Amino acid sequence: MKPDPDVKLDDLYQDVILDHYRRPRNRRELADADRRAEGNNPLCGDHVTIFLKVESGVVREVTFQGGGCAISTASASLMTEVLRGKTLDEAKAIFKRFHGLVTGEPRETSEPHGLGKLEVFSGICHYPARVKCATLAWHTLDAALRDDRRPEDVVSTE
Ligand code: ZN
Repeated sequence: MKPDPDVKLDDLYQDVILDHYRRPRNRRELADADRRAEGNNPLCGDHVTIFLKVESGVVREVTFQGGGCAISTASASLMTEVLRGKTLDEAKAIFKRFHGLVTGEPRETSEPHGLGKLEVFSGICHYPARVKCATLAWHTLDAALRDDRRPEDVVSTE
């Protein structure tokens, strides 16, 4: 357990990331998950499994197992906190904004990202090699949502 020497983020952000790395939230298997997916980031050795319970198009529970470096583990932990209670459409919209944030996508508006705690990853765009660490849990979540074993929850894949 040590800070990630490759990434020197703003101190405040670094503290939040290290807190979630040391004490990950919702890191457990979800026995009654109706969707799950596994994701790997071979560049860094990160591996996560995402468990989801979706009811009426709303994320009721989301947990994860695994992890890896500080960035990937903290990202998974923060993701589970942010997504609980969100609709699938909201979850996808947050993923899109988060992806834009960490890849440094140019924006048409100067408004805040509105990502709350997830903005601690805004410095990642300066470390292209680490973007996959920050987005691994999210891509895995996306895969879990597409693996829809409950046909009444239609997941659009535009
Ligand atoms: Zn990593």
